[in-house]
Amino acid sequence: MSRDIEMRLARELPAYALRVVGALEAAGHEAWVVGGWVRDALLGRPGHDVDVTTSAPWQQTARVLRAAGIEVHETGTAHGTVTAVVDGSPVETTTYRVEGAYTDRRHPDEVRFVTDVREDLARRDFTVNAMAFHPKRGLLDPFDGEKDLAARVIRAVGEPRRRFEEDALRVLRAVRFACRLDARIDSATQDALVSCAPELAQIAHERIGQELDGILATGRAAWALRHEFAVMAAAVPELAPMAGFDQKSPYHAHDVLEHTARVCAGVEEFTGGGASQALRWAALLHDVAKPECWSEDVSGRGHFFGHPEAGARTARRVMARLAIPGDVSRAAAALVLLHDFEIRATAPSMRRMLSELERACPGQARRLSFDLLDLKRSDAVAKAPQCTGYAVELDQMTRALRAELAAGAVWRVGDLAVGGADVIRERGIEPGPGVGMVLAQLLATVMDGQLPNDREAQLEWLRW
Ligand code: ATP
Ligand code: MG
Repeated sequence: MSRDIEMRLARELPAYALRVVGALEAAGHEAWVVGGWVRDALLGRPGHDVDVTTSAPWQQTARVLRAAGIEVHETGTAHGTVTAVVDGSPVETTTYRVEGAYTDRRHPDEVRFVTDVREDLARRDFTVNAMAFHPKRGLLDPFDGEKDLAARVIRAVGEPRRRFEEDALRVLRAVRFACRLDARIDSATQDALVSCAPELAQIAHERIGQELDGILATGRAAWALRHEFAVMAAAVPELAPMAGFDQKSPYHAHDVLEHTARVCAGVEEFTGGGASQALRWAALLHDVAKPECWSEDVSGRGHFFGHPEAGARTARRVMARLAIPGDVSRAAAALVLLHDFEIRATAPSMRRMLSELERACPGQARRLSFDLLDLKRSDAVAKAPQCTGYAVELDQMTRALRAELAAGAVWRVGDLAVGGADVIRERGIEPGPGVGMVLAQLLATVMDGQLPNDREAQLEWLRW
């Protein structure tokens, strides 16, 4: 090993990983760092978890590492995996293996342990993920992953169609890595991707959810929608009607798909690439129900009555199926529901928006209010050119929202300066639903700006 790049990797390999590799090799086994760490370190991003692959059967791995004073957890022994924990850092350590036949096109029927690391690399999905590194022996790269990485190409290891037929999830993984690495997909791999995309229907929903969530997390969903829509629509069939759907509206210069891609790009632009996961899902799904809600008026213009409500329902259903965490899906569905909610740059309007968000996603209104403005801003610039003026108004709304929150905005009954006990005493009524009704009325009055959030003023209002 002499190349600068290998010396850099050897320097950057964390000491805890070196201990695992060193302990296994001192006991006469072979061990390599493999997969994501190698790929990301070659790109100058050495922060990835370290995975190790070894010739040792897992029982031996566990024994050798424990003898070296390393904590070992038996996390996936059916696949030959144990997790070593050194100084608090986990290192997944797996015996060289290949996968048997995939008769259900989902799970390998068996894993077979092998003795040659090259066989282990050959069962991996893409060339950029099929490299191994050893601090002394250097890079082992039988499929030219380093070259593909430098050229930013995602290429299947081996015959693409066969690899996608073995495990159709790889179709979605190809898109995720292309997004993540800002790469293009090699043409033979791309052809296989399109023909095998329908096989995604056979894959467990939560595995699809994980990869899709990973695609959104790259911030490049717009690319995936524009370049790999066949894959995206196979992963989420509800997206399919968006392609080519002509909105027949003066407000829309694009079909629903291109509009959605623009909104996905917009939320990244407006948040400096730091959109929340809920905002990303909302951008993807905000207009998903437009095709089903479409109607045409006598002048031939298209309308989409009820599409935010229907879209929120679809978003909830899709995200539940894909096992997206409940907090993300509730927040995303609230944003979809309210993406067309009319707002103005006034304090009462901001309070109404906060209160609607509170109702749709309790406890999250403050955080979601900024996400909602970013979604609306992206939506506006993704429509027709004459709608971009609205994006400027949204800047005023953001200022109004900040001012309102800084001033202690009131949008929940709990924010009022008085409470149930005050209502019972001042109004002389019994505890019960009537108290809540009075408080709701008071809240509406304060939110409208007719009464300050001041205890004396509100007690006075109760007495009146
Ligand atoms: P990430 O940072 O996204 O986790 P990663 O490279 O660690 O990137 P994982 O999904 O954690 O990706 O998988 C670890 C490695 O296992 C991959 O680099 C790849 O070599 C291999 N691998 C994972 N899933 C598959 C699959 N479905 N088919 C073939 N190889 C796979
Ligand atoms: Mg990983």
